[in-house]
Parts: sequence; structure tokens; C-alpha cells
Amino acid sequence: MSTATPMLAGPGRRLTVENSRMLAGIPPYVATIRRVVPDAEETLTYWVAIDDPQVRRSYHFQPGQISMLGVFGVGEIPISISSDPARPLVLAHTVRACGRVTNALKALKAGDQVTVRGPFGRPWPVERARGGDLLIVAGGLGMAPLRSAIYTAIRNRGSFRRLIVLVGARSPEQILFPYEMSLWEHLLGMHRVELHQTVDVADGDWPHDVGVVTTLFPKAEIDPLVTTVFTCGPEIMMRFAIRDLLAMGVPKKRIWLSMERNMQCAVKFCGHCQIGPYFVCEDGPVFRYDEIGELMEVDEL
Ligand SMILES: Cc1cc2nc3c(=O)[nH]c(=O)nc-3n(C[C@H](O)[C@H](O)[C@H](O)COP(=O)(O)OP(=O)(O)OC[C@H]3O[C@@H](n4cnc5c(N)ncnc54)[C@H](O)[C@@H]3O)c2cc1C
Repeated sequence: MSTATPMLAGPGRRLTVENSRMLAGIPPYVATIRRVVPDAEETLTYWVAIDDPQVRRSYHFQPGQISMLGVFGVGEIPISISSDPARPLVLAHTVRACGRVTNALKALKAGDQVTVRGPFGRPWPVERARGGDLLIVAGGLGMAPLRSAIYTAIRNRGSFRRLIVLVGARSPEQILFPYEMSLWEHLLGMHRVELHQTVDVADGDWPHDVGVVTTLFPKAEIDPLVTTVFTCGPEIMMRFAIRDLLAMGVPKKRIWLSMERNMQCAVKFCGHCQIGPYFVCEDGPVFRYDEIGELMEVDEL
């Protein structure tokens, strides 16, 4: 039996002295913001480099993993690493301001310091799509954790038959990384990416589709028997997308989604990110649909 002293009680578990030692095993590293890039309306990408050169060189992450990004004196939040895992010296975090920490981040500029703890979480299993088609379905800010998977897939493009990226957003201004996406689309030969975009509302200048992201499925001509799906976006969007994919015959075991929950410790102790038996910080954020599907249907879980 543990003799550890409870230090802090979360909704699910207790953070004890023993647990806090494990937390100390993944310390926050001080990092400097190198660039701040507007990547969509109200959305900035912070390119940060860990200050300690030794730590910076040994830091690696996998597609879909997150950092706990900290603002001094304000707090720490989970943010997906949106850059290329093959280039981990400078890490991109794409953030939409919505509250205390994200608004504090908004006030920072190149040269300011933040903290980075991580990387955490189960990554996108890009290798599972080998030999078949990889279908990416992104809604709004959901493109941030998917971009790292797209980079990895492009680097290994020869391992997949088709690489299809479907993007939906509320308006053209909310589409993340628009310039980069058009570069992906124009990759040729073995590197080719099939890209389709849609928005809920647009004026006459918008050259792509109008409608929800599922309206792109017929255009993409998905072959359900060989397709592996990665999806991230608002939960309602993922529910509808998955419902249609299942109806088309894509097996549950080949649909992967990234879940967002309020997260505080990121090491499976505080319980804030618990969904049924799972902790999003460590068992996720990427889940296979047959693991999490029924829990997604439970209200307020
Ligand atoms: C695995 C994971 C990956 C994430 N990746 C990104 C990312 O790449 N970019 C990004 O901008 N955000 C991402 N988020 C969401 C981000 O962590 C929250 O927006 C952030 O914690 C809000 O902190 P705040 O202090 O600014 O807001 P707060 O002041 O804490 O809250 C502002 C409002 O947002 C709500 N809120 C807070 N966190 C969440 C959440 N996770 N889901 C839904 N509502 C929430 C609060 O209830 C409140 O209404 C991710 C979250 C998780 C769990």
C-alpha cells in the first residue's frame, strides 16, 4: 500500500508525492518563441525552440502528440505539435485564443519565453495505412494535429496508394495553413496529395465547395476496403463523418480520431481528461473508433 501523502485532489485521481516525482521526470523546458505566424483568423502558430541545446537536440515527437505549453505566471495548456516530426529542433504550436492562457499567449512575440513539457500522448498510427489509402478528414482547428501526420505521410508517400486530405471549416478565413495546402496539392508523381476543401459559408470568390465536410466524400471516391482514416475536428463533425464512413463500409478498426478534453497534468493522474476508462493525455488523444465510439455517444462524458 502506498504511504505517499496526497498533495492535490483532481476529479478522478490524487496527485501524490510519488506521482509528482514522475511528473518531475518530464519537467517543463524553457523555450524561446522564434516566430509567430497568423495561420487563420484568430489563430497563431508559435514556432518555439527549447533553450537548452542538449535538450533541444534530443527532443523528438511523433505525429499527433501534444506539448503542455506554459506561459509564465499564467498557466499551462495542452496544444498539439503542428510541425514536421522529422524537424524537431523548432516546434510549431497552432493556437486559437479562447481563454486565460491562450489570450496570454496572444500577447507574446518572437524572443519571448514560454515553457514546453512533453511530448505526450498516443500518436497517429501512420504506418497502419501502409499499402492502402490514407484519408485525412479535418474540421477547423483539427488540421493542427493532423498536419504532422500529413508531413509524415508525404515523407513516406511511396508507402501509400492514395493520400487524400478533406478539409472543412466555417468560412474561408478559418481554413488553416491555406498556402501550404495548395503546395501539397501541387506535389506531383509519387508525392501527390488529393486535396478537397469546403466551408459552411462563403462569398463568390471562394473557388472550392460550400457545405459540410462529409459532402466531399463522393468527390474523394473512397475505396472503403483499403482506406485508413484519421479525423480531427469538432466532436459533432467527427460523429457525422464517421457515421458516413461506416455506412460506406470503412471498418471501425481503420478509423482513428483525436479527442479534446480539458487536460491539466498530462500524465494520467489528475483525471480532468478522463472519458470512461480512458485518459486522453496518455491513452489518447488519438483513439481507434471501436475503442471510443460508444463513449462518444454518452452525454456529458
Ligand atoms: C489533446 C488536446 C490537443 C489540443 N490541441 C490544441 C491545439 O492544437 N490548438 C488549440 O488552440 N487548442 C488545442 N487544444 C485546446 C486547448 O488546450 C484549450 O483551448 C486551452 O486549454 C484553453 O485554455 P485557456 O486557459 O486559454 O482557456 P480557459 O480560460 O481554460 O477556457 C476558456 C473556455 O474554453 C473551454 N475549454 C478549455 N479547454 C477546452 C478543451 N480542451 N476543449 C473544449 N473546451 C475547452 C473552457 O471550458 C472555457 O469555456 C487541445 C486540447 C487537447 C486536450
